[in-house]
Amino acid sequence: MIRSQATCYPESVNQNLMHEFSLALEVINLAQREAEKNMVGTIQEINIEVGDLSGVEADAFESALGLLQKGSILCEAVINIVRTPGKGKCNACKQEFSMNHRMATCPKCRCFPSVISGGEEFRVVSLLVE
Ligand SMILES: [Zn+2]
Repeated sequence: MIRSQATCYPESVNQNLMHEFSLALEVINLAQREAEKNMVGTIQEINIEVGDLSGVEADAFESALGLLQKGSILCEAVINIVRTPGKGKCNACKQEFSMNHRMATCPKCRCFPSVISGGEEFRVVSLLVE
């Protein structure tokens, strides 16, 4: 008998997936509370915003939620994950630019650090209940 397939992966990958799984669980718990508040049994649609700089791996999060939705309040829900791009503003020259990671330097003056002005979101934007 195979005890766990997770042992096939290096520890870091494993931990990252755990992160996305716990976030997916949080989203399900939140949806559950909303459904109870509205006294409904299922949720039709859920929209979640995941910023590119939020530290959440959107693809891993999506597959975690896809696995966990079965048997949950979200079992019939359409899950929409909207990714928001990273944006930053240079502290030195005030140039605004798109950031693909948190440690990005300003493309104009090469200064660091910059203020992150977008892409850190991780939130449930809306739920459609019936
Ligand atoms: Zn700059």
